[in-house]
Amino acid sequence: MANKVSKSSTKELAENAAAYCEPCDSLGMAFSRHIRYWLSRDDDASTAVFYSLALSVKEQMLEAWRDTRSQDAQFDKKQVAYLSLEFLMGRALGNALLSLDLSDECRQALKEYSVTLEEVQEQEHDAGLGNGGLGRLAACFLDSCASMDLAVTGYGIRYEYGMFVQKIVDGYQQESPDKWLRSGNPWEVRVPVHNVTVPFFGRTESYVDRNGRRHVCWVDTHDVLAVAYDMPIPGYKNQRVNTLRLWKSEATDEFDLDEFNQGDYAEAVARKNLAEQITMVLYPNDSSENGKELRLRQQYFLSSASLQDLLRTWVKKFGTDFSQFGVKNAIQLNDTHPSIAVPELMRLLIDEYLLEWDEAWAITTSTMAYTNHTLLPEALERWSVRMFSYMLPRILDIIYEINARYMDAVAHQWPGNSQKLAEMSIIEEGHDPHIRMAYLAIVASFSVNGVAGLHTQLLKSGLFKDFYQLWPEKFNNKTNGVTPRRWLAYCNPRLSALLTKQLGEGWVTDLSQLRKIEGCVDNKTFVKQWQEVKQANKQELAAMVKQQCGVDFDPAMMFDVQVKRIHEYKRQLLNILHVIHLYHRILQGDTQNMVPRCVLIGGKAAPGYAMAKTIIKLANNVAHMVNSDPLVRPFLRFAFLPNYNVSAMEKICPGTDLSEQISTAGKEASGTGNMKFMMNGALTIGTLDGANIEMLEEVGEDNFFLFGLNAEQVAQTRQNYRPADIVSASPALSAVMELLTSGHFNLIEPGIFEHIINAILSPYDQWMTAADFDDYCAVQQKVGLAYQDQKYWTQMSIRNTAASGRFSSDVTIAGYRDEIWRV
Ligand SMILES: *Cc1c(COP(=O)(O)O)cnc(C)c1O
Repeated sequence: MANKVSKSSTKELAENAAAYCEPCDSLGMAFSRHIRYWLSRDDDASTAVFYSLALSVKEQMLEAWRDTRSQDAQFDKKQVAYLSLEFLMGRALGNALLSLDLSDECRQALKEYSVTLEEVQEQEHDAGLGNGGLGRLAACFLDSCASMDLAVTGYGIRYEYGMFVQKIVDGYQQESPDKWLRSGNPWEVRVPVHNVTVPFFGRTESYVDRNGRRHVCWVDTHDVLAVAYDMPIPGYKNQRVNTLRLWKSEATDEFDLDEFNQGDYAEAVARKNLAEQITMVLYPNDSSENGKELRLRQQYFLSSASLQDLLRTWVKKFGTDFSQFGVKNAIQLNDTHPSIAVPELMRLLIDEYLLEWDEAWAITTSTMAYTNHTLLPEALERWSVRMFSYMLPRILDIIYEINARYMDAVAHQWPGNSQKLAEMSIIEEGHDPHIRMAYLAIVASFSVNGVAGLHTQLLKSGLFKDFYQLWPEKFNNKTNGVTPRRWLAYCNPRLSALLTKQLGEGWVTDLSQLRKIEGCVDNKTFVKQWQEVKQANKQELAAMVKQQCGVDFDPAMMFDVQVKRIHEYKRQLLNILHVIHLYHRILQGDTQNMVPRCVLIGGKAAPGYAMAKTIIKLANNVAHMVNSDPLVRPFLRFAFLPNYNVSAMEKICPGTDLSEQISTAGKEASGTGNMKFMMNGALTIGTLDGANIEMLEEVGEDNFFLFGLNAEQVAQTRQNYRPADIVSASPALSAVMELLTSGHFNLIEPGIFEHIINAILSPYDQWMTAADFDDYCAVQQKVGLAYQDQKYWTQMSIRNTAASGRFSSDVTIAGYRDEIWRV
């Protein structure tokens, strides 16, 4: 056996040996052990150092990881499962070193090698298993849960390919696959003992047993193996290590034995690939549904595997008495993506563990909690009944039964109102009926939460109005947050050191303590140090922009940044129009009171979202014109940063002066990028949307640049919206539109921006870019004036960081813990 081991399996063996060995070594000793092996491979030195270090750090966590598991099992604590199709984790090394307090030891271990810790960290591939805010929220929540000593397990999918890598070629987005597992993932541990099988296709049969009970069997299924890969989630300096369990799909061992026996070898192997397809790739759509069959398979695969895991653990401990299951378990559904867990839990309890419907329903409805993430109709998931009927026939039966019983409750509330029944039904009838996944989630959950105050209000008064009438007690708000470990302590070491010098270390786990630095706004030394920190961070950001975009950002100028997924509702277009406005003013010689600024936009467009892709092209073309004109240079620089991701944001938010949060009011559920910037002392220019409203409340109007229509005014204006009139009435916007229509930015590519121009001028423009343009420019002018007074600006910056405590995900998770999970 041993002499047959190939090179790649040697690698696996070494990793597994590391995973299971007793952590008797210090970090330094473990590192020397690993580096001997890794340097003998053909990797370059810094890659070898990274893998050796990561494996050594993981070893340091193993004991605490094991202890966490056994303690949680022993003490009978309520367990929470956080189900999400996305976990946008980013890199793990720096965060682990911070949580385990190993940075000094680590630098010591690296002394013999000619690399810095920062260079080594750059070697780690981002775990980009998410699109944007929703996936990053799941990652921040895991950090907070572990740091707050909560027994919460994340359940997700181990995508072979995460979020695509974005390149910009001739100004256009080009996607390429993100092969993040290429050189192996040093953090994961494959744990085959937790394997489960997930059924697909087949048909149902029923029979009545001797006692007259009807049973349904789902037969002739194609089973897929779910293999567990665990990632450690270390709490901040508290000895807890939680688990993120990611499922990989594989062919079952007994796969297509029949075909083998019949000699259809090639067919059988092809089937194996079909099974492995399920977890091959993350769907890159943010805020829009996709409707693809493979996506539904991913959703069911994750839901079924995770629930089987939970039930198996339960049965091992308590046998088949499920009466306390809902008391000891909570399942949080991150959007409707895993909401198929509702009928799946019913199926497992009824078909596999032989519970009666009412018992199973009582358990399901005391366990499930649903978080809604968007009001955009195009993001609401609806799955075709036809697709369900062949892919998941047993699940479809159960959904129909849930709906029939729930329709009785609706009929009771609104007697004789058949329109209400049709509107509220889980099944959207028609020639091609669909299942409304949000309704399914609401009906089966004891808690339905929005992610910011305004968003929850709009859910109750709009999208889910009828459900709110039926079950007001289910609805609650949990304003999003971000983890202060990654988004301040780790990503901004300079500011972090200054805060710790002033306040001690307590702020890292109690961000409300930052309020105390408000008292320092008149302390000249403190203000000066704050400015020095920002200046140094801007230099680092400028270096990144230079390297990635070839554009010179001058740290003496204002850094004005908008990074997030490219979407019309987020209005990157409004930002670009403002850049064109400044450019036009400069060309006109109208530069009085103009404060020099560097504008940065970054973000990925969904590959099928044509308008978003055209917006990227426009940004790049405008940037080209702006940056190549020597007259413009002293006042304005503009860059589009390719491949925006978590690691990029870790450098961007510390170096930003002005954060752009300019969505059409009522459209951004919460936003979390806004919070990362605020924590790092950026000022915000923003609309009354999502969590911006709560940020404004915390920091006060004097320290926030508010502009534009509010959600109510947007709805009002929509009734009779005439953008063409707005353009004619605004000299500034007229000039901008003139430049655009003249083809100034696309001389050799005529017509490519027609769609954008038409969208702005359309009375049906949902995002109402023209409506907010003049106010946006006026407030941008105020921003410039404020920036000229550096002392005043710095005081506002300090006040923003000071007021950001409420947006720690620790606060959010305390809310989930006390009001939803009740652990
Ligand atoms: C925080 C974050 C987001 C969310 O940003 P919004 O501005 O709230 O849309 C998206 N992507 C990444 C990489 C992030 O870190």
